[in-house]
Amino acid sequence: MTFAASTRPQVRPHDVLVIGAGGAGLRAAIEARTAGADVGLVCKSLLGKAHTVMAEGGVAAALGHVAAADSWQVHFRDTMLGGKFLNNPRMAQIHATEAPERVRELESWGAVFDRTADGRILQRPFGGHSHARLAHVGDRTGLEIIRTLQDRAVGLGIQVYMECTITKLVSGPDGVTGAVGYWRTSGLPIVFPATSIVLATGGIGRAYEITSNSWEYSGDGQALAYEAGADLIDMEFVQFHPTGMVWPPGVRGLLVTEAVRGEGGILRNRDGERFMWKYLPEDRRAEYAATDEEAARWVTALSEGRETDARRPPELSTRDNVARAIYTEVKEGRGTPHGGVFLDISYLPPETVRRKLPSMYEQFKELADVDITAGPMEVGPTTHYVMGGIRVDAETGQTTVPGLFAAGEVAGGMHGANRLGGNSLSDLLVFGARTGGAAAAHATGATSKPYLDPVAVQTAVAELAAPLERQDGEDPYAIQRDLQDTMQRLVGIFRIEADLDEAIMRLAELRRRWTTVRATGGRAYNPGWNLVFELDHLLTISEAIARSARQRTESRGAHSRLDHPATDETRWNGVNGVIFRGRDGAMSVGTTPLPAMTDELRGLLASVDH
Ligand SMILES: Cc1cc2nc3c(=O)[nH]c(=O)nc-3n(C[C@H](O)[C@H](O)[C@H](O)COP(=O)(O)OP(=O)(O)OC[C@H]3O[C@@H](n4cnc5c(N)ncnc54)[C@H](O)[C@@H]3O)c2cc1C
Repeated sequence: MTFAASTRPQVRPHDVLVIGAGGAGLRAAIEARTAGADVGLVCKSLLGKAHTVMAEGGVAAALGHVAAADSWQVHFRDTMLGGKFLNNPRMAQIHATEAPERVRELESWGAVFDRTADGRILQRPFGGHSHARLAHVGDRTGLEIIRTLQDRAVGLGIQVYMECTITKLVSGPDGVTGAVGYWRTSGLPIVFPATSIVLATGGIGRAYEITSNSWEYSGDGQALAYEAGADLIDMEFVQFHPTGMVWPPGVRGLLVTEAVRGEGGILRNRDGERFMWKYLPEDRRAEYAATDEEAARWVTALSEGRETDARRPPELSTRDNVARAIYTEVKEGRGTPHGGVFLDISYLPPETVRRKLPSMYEQFKELADVDITAGPMEVGPTTHYVMGGIRVDAETGQTTVPGLFAAGEVAGGMHGANRLGGNSLSDLLVFGARTGGAAAAHATGATSKPYLDPVAVQTAVAELAAPLERQDGEDPYAIQRDLQDTMQRLVGIFRIEADLDEAIMRLAELRRRWTTVRATGGRAYNPGWNLVFELDHLLTISEAIARSARQRTESRGAHSRLDHPATDETRWNGVNGVIFRGRDGAMSVGTTPLPAMTDELRGLLASVDH
């Protein structure tokens, strides 16, 4: 008897189905439930194990507790500057204005942030932020946020489906009507009829070999939305975080938080040179310290919790710039023995390092046998975040498909060509809340129950069984290895057209191999079988990244083309790349103009040299 024929899926209807239980999903679920909707919340792993829990450095919000001069206007401007003006300006405005409210709300729900001497939420500096802006809990901010949101969601009686993977969305003529997936524990299928669906599945890091992301980041939400007919935007903009661990090999890519640089960490090459001085962009040089002495004064003032006229150290340049600098130092032969550069915070008192960066201290001690209070770390770039994602309406998180919403890292638009550190946690709180509210309103306004096409459901269930029923076929792990190698080598930090063409060709071949993929073993807790569906999504989003990267014939933010090294302001200013499914079913790539900016916002950017 086949898997499909023997197995009647469980059916669990909800007004609003939230797929993903990280910060964005939890915040959306809370808002939708508070608005009176019946909410189901699905996640691939155990509740609390999403990426949000791994966030270390902090959440960006212009509270003005450390720097009184901070305001939403400055935060907006920093975000647009960091994003090289490709951000959806309305999203950047909403984000900057609402982030403080969302952080205070978290505090009122029980989150305990680090404190200033007078008892307010403490804020730390981060790259690209004009002021100390990141509310934090040591270097374990995500844990506190997830704990707080989770308590709230459970308290509201939201139905949670853990260890449950969604593999398909089902649509009717009026938009999405439900989702199909399976329990990882048993392999049995489950169907969720829903009037509104919120995608909050996070990023795509597992498309690359070296990444700070866990197994959960396989681009599921982006691919599910694309297959349901939604547009993706800005997929060429993948953030390579400058500092991941490079040694030992088993932990290569694991994140070394930007908080290390935020607290004064200095980058040096093999020769002891503080190389970031060389890489500061000329038009931004005035924002940074001019000498080691000025940078040191800035760090001292920071550690004493007082304001200073010293400018920030060069290590606090934006992530794209620092990642390129490190890559170049290593490529030109000035790297460390393990292929990275040195990051040193050991000149600060050991107790300060242990208090400010407890996770980093333990991470290096446990995994690399390095005491960061006594010597430098070795670090190098790691795939970290995707700025691109599902195209959404700034106010509601509605995608281009009715009833389908998206929030958090899975959504595009907010960060443009490069995300500033700390702006993701605030993004998911702000847009999680808005999207949850809009999804609830959409469900409440519906005049009929969602109709799930039984043929579509049956097909989705049969697709689950197929890899287990094949007698022969490709090994999913071999496809994964080749995919990650392709993306790492050909669609990495520096790109050229010939490599991108080769990547697109290789991805097509990998897609062909995937159609005959075979999983061995049973249905319960079978990682090889689970990987088959993740590969489906990874292949789709990898193609989207490669095609978008090929289309953008300039260098901007996180996208660096060696064959087009300059920013092309004539051709590419104000233009987002778009990926959509063409009439023939094939992936198409195009462009769309950025949403218009109001006079008020234009005024805020008037003094900025584009
Ligand atoms: C190590 C690390 C440190 C970071 N530090 C910071 C920081 O200090 N500040 C900052 O602003 N940002 C930071 N970031 C980035 C930030 O943490 C993430 O961008 C953010 O947490 C994403 O939240 P999310 O809710 O969109 O997704 P996630 O928190 O990743 O949640 C995704 C959810 O979707 C579920 N899911 C995925 N696919 C499926 C599927 N098919 N079916 C069912 N469920 C599915 C997962 O199980 C999970 O529950 C960091 C990231 C990392 C990796």
